[in-house]
Amino acid sequence: MKLAETVTFGGSGLDRKAHLRGDAAALAEALADGRGTVLPIWRGKPMMEDTGTGARLAWLPADHPVLQDAHGKRLFLGDDGGAWRFAADVSRWQPELDAYAPLDSFADDTMQVHPAAGHGQVFRELRLAMTLLTPRDAELAATAKAMLGWHRSHRFCARCGTESVMAQAGWQRTCPACGAHHFPRTDPVVIMLITHGNDLLLGRSPGWPGGMYSLLAGFVEPGETMEAAVRREVAEETAVQVGRVDYLASQPWPYPSSLMFGCRGEALSRDITLDPAELEDALWISREDLAEAMAGRHPTLMPARKGAIAQFLMQNWLADRLN
Ligand SMILES: [Zn+2]
Repeated sequence: MKLAETVTFGGSGLDRKAHLRGDAAALAEALADGRGTVLPIWRGKPMMEDTGTGARLAWLPADHPVLQDAHGKRLFLGDDGGAWRFAADVSRWQPELDAYAPLDSFADDTMQVHPAAGHGQVFRELRLAMTLLTPRDAELAATAKAMLGWHRSHRFCARCGTESVMAQAGWQRTCPACGAHHFPRTDPVVIMLITHGNDLLLGRSPGWPGGMYSLLAGFVEPGETMEAAVRREVAEETAVQVGRVDYLASQPWPYPSSLMFGCRGEALSRDITLDPAELEDALWISREDLAEAMAGRHPTLMPARKGAIAQFLMQNWLADRLN
């Protein structure tokens, strides 16, 4: 797909400078002399500021008071046009007014203001702000969020259970007891545009906002190709049989650590039998009805939110731009 990398979180050409990850002295020097700046992330939310027309990440000097709440070392993200970018987890900070969204909320739209933050700098949910960022900031934010999330959930050695330590500027964890090296993980997920003639297969999961439908998706299992995963997931969830499958585009999806493989599949059958554990409903929608839904004019149906690869694939299917 020619437009593949224009998806939100698509490649921005960030120079990750992987050869510097083992050079602690060079990275410390960059942080000390101001070439290096740090993005604080609080409980998965990057610090951002408004630009008037969008949002940008808030890069702080290494000695900024917000970063006093950082635990662990700095994660080195790469060279962003001469500026060396780092990230730090400041989740230890406890806001006075704990404005958490309820747990059953689909997306957390609360913003938190650290008392030491600059004017207009807030911690906000990336899922709701991802389309406001430049491709470069989106790549940096997705990388930082996925990596810091991995450190939080993989503190202990998977081989012997001892607490491991961050190494290689955050790109590894090493076990001090047994010496095992652990690497950040990415979970492959297939998300598929299943068509039958002029119709597209959509489903909705329990708990989604009313009327919201999207493409079917599921984790790739060990020992399985992407193509096989597409056919298996669609058959399990809807009993629709899929023939030919093609890969279209991918999207890093740091919620918490997926890589979405957008695929297209041709359905060989139309009858739907739902797996109620996975889906609340599934249906075939015509091109014309989908266009109405995407324009917000459909009476009952609301498509996946902007920024998600599902929406990107549906839009390009409607515009005949999948090749
Ligand atoms: Zn170990």
